[in-house]
Amino acid sequence: MDYIGHVIRPPSEAYSMIIQVTVGCSHNQCTFCGTYKDQKFRLKDMATIKRDIDEMSSYRHGFRKAFLADGDVLILPNEEILEIMQYIRKKNPTIERIGVYGNTKAILKKTPEELRALRQSGLGIVYQGIESGNKEVLRRVKKGAFPHKQLEAAEKVKEAGMLLSQTVLLGIGGTELSEEHAIDTGKHLGAMSPQYAGALTVMLLPNTELYRQAQEGNFVLPDKFGMLNELRLMIVNMKVKSPCFFTSNHASNYLPIRASFPEDRHKVIALIEEVLKKRDDRLLKPEHMRAL
Ligand code: SF4
Repeated sequence: MDYIGHVIRPPSEAYSMIIQVTVGCSHNQCTFCGTYKDQKFRLKDMATIKRDIDEMSSYRHGFRKAFLADGDVLILPNEEILEIMQYIRKKNPTIERIGVYGNTKAILKKTPEELRALRQSGLGIVYQGIESGNKEVLRRVKKGAFPHKQLEAAEKVKEAGMLLSQTVLLGIGGTELSEEHAIDTGKHLGAMSPQYAGALTVMLLPNTELYRQAQEGNFVLPDKFGMLNELRLMIVNMKVKSPCFFTSNHASNYLPIRASFPEDRHKVIALIEEVLKKRDDRLLKPEHMRAL
């Protein structure tokens, strides 16, 4: 396979056929993200992509899902994405769903007709990194998309008939904006009501601007109970309008949760409050077991 650099995928795509279509991320400015720092964004040529699809299809039969990496495949013209998806499905008739990471700007550049065409060709899920629902936090971390644009993009994805999976980041507002970040992010997720929402916890990576800010004393991460308090505040404010499967079971988190909202919401809040009340480290994941 012609994999270049770090090829990452969402946890739920662990058994998917992973095809690297682009290298890196077209934005590549988020202060907390070190994933593609050493990569210049580019599209791989179609012949290489098809060779990878051929190779992957020969390894294993019966793939049910495929994922198009890297960070920002939706920025490509529709014709190219459609050609890739059609080739994947031709070679793998068992494929039921194709997924991509969807940068807010890239989603908004697509017309509703283009998104529907992608849906009809098999694009079944878009993973949108939200990080925060607080405008100032998003400005500071250079996310490149404010909450109202994220909401607009989320609605477009859902209207096109695709599943929407969103991730947010505990701790990204630092201690200074911790509460505002948590409350606004909960409200924002409630307003968007994705089918899937996941919370990850910030880990400072040495190749990032956020790490440098922390070293210089300009950014302070909340401690583990501060992170947990953010999770509590977020869920208290997350009033979804339609069913949402919520997880905080990513390796970076201190307290793993898998719950269906709205029905499990009060149960989850009570659990987090109990842990916060006890303040017992043993109830949380040890630091050495956390990872990104
Ligand atoms: S978080 Fe996403 S949008 Fe931001 S730089 Fe990383 S891959 Fe790109």
